[in-house]
Amino acid sequence: MRNAMVQAPASLIPFQFRTKAPAPHFGQNGQAMGMLDMRHRRRKAEDIADKLPLDESAARQTTLRLDDHHQVGRIRHIGEQVDVVSRLHLGLSAQTARLRTLDLLAQLRIPEPAAVAEAYPHQLSGGMKQRIVIAMALAGEPDLIIADEPTTALDVTVQAQIIQILTRLSRDRGLALLLITHDMGVVAQVCDRVAVLYAGRIAEERAVDPLFATPAHPYTTALIDCIPRDGMTPGSLHGIPGAVPTSGRYPPGCRFNPRCASAADLCRQERPLLRPLHHGGAVACHFANAEAP
Ligand code: SF4
Repeated sequence: MRNAMVQAPASLIPFQFRTKAPAPHFGQNGQAMGMLDMRHRRRKAEDIADKLPLDESAARQTTLRLDDHHQVGRIRHIGEQVDVVSRLHLGLSAQTARLRTLDLLAQLRIPEPAAVAEAYPHQLSGGMKQRIVIAMALAGEPDLIIADEPTTALDVTVQAQIIQILTRLSRDRGLALLLITHDMGVVAQVCDRVAVLYAGRIAEERAVDPLFATPAHPYTTALIDCIPRDGMTPGSLHGIPGAVPTSGRYPPGCRFNPRCASAADLCRQERPLLRPLHHGGAVACHFANAEAP
């Protein structure tokens, strides 16, 4: 559900699904996301795929997810995989694309970019491959990067490096970064605005500081309570009881009600709508201190 929510505006959901709402607008010209000249991009991809000694699927790929460093194809040199993005999106020659790739690898603080460009993915560590995925995303000069769990499966040190790179890039290049994560610590470090999702619906949406200081939705409160802190004694960290319902088997009313300590009869009968909060943002809870719908 979460993936569908971010894939739909970019027209990346499977063809058998449809979006009902109008596409959100993005960028200086206010273009509708997903309408960013998809047909033109596909035609261009086909032209380049004809000329490049690469997998057709790789050449057609116009959007990159950062969720998994295994996204890096296994049988092509790293350099080829980054080159193809700037050839596809920017129309660069093979030579110029390679120079740009080396520059990007250097910007991402990858040691010996020329050697890495000639390496195969299996010769690199997980953290290094994650940086390669970021290089692939940047090679097309995007205005928006959707980073789906970019630090999952990385050790804490590499995770901190990746977070630092993403925040620096978004600041220096003026990129918008849509980060999808379960890690509230990462949210606190990186984000300006946060939408907390539960079972496919927005539970709360706010600027990051007030969200952490005065969470309005019981699920947000519970998530923040799950963050380990210095000085905690063993056993004092509380999880959220129960489990997230499986897709399509949601409880009636508020989807969080079976796990919510504040649930009342109304919560089991009526879906709480997203209502504006007095000091900005919105919350979907019958008992949160929000404005009337
Ligand atoms: S609507 Fe009810 S069950 Fe849902 S979060 Fe609010 S109090 Fe809890």
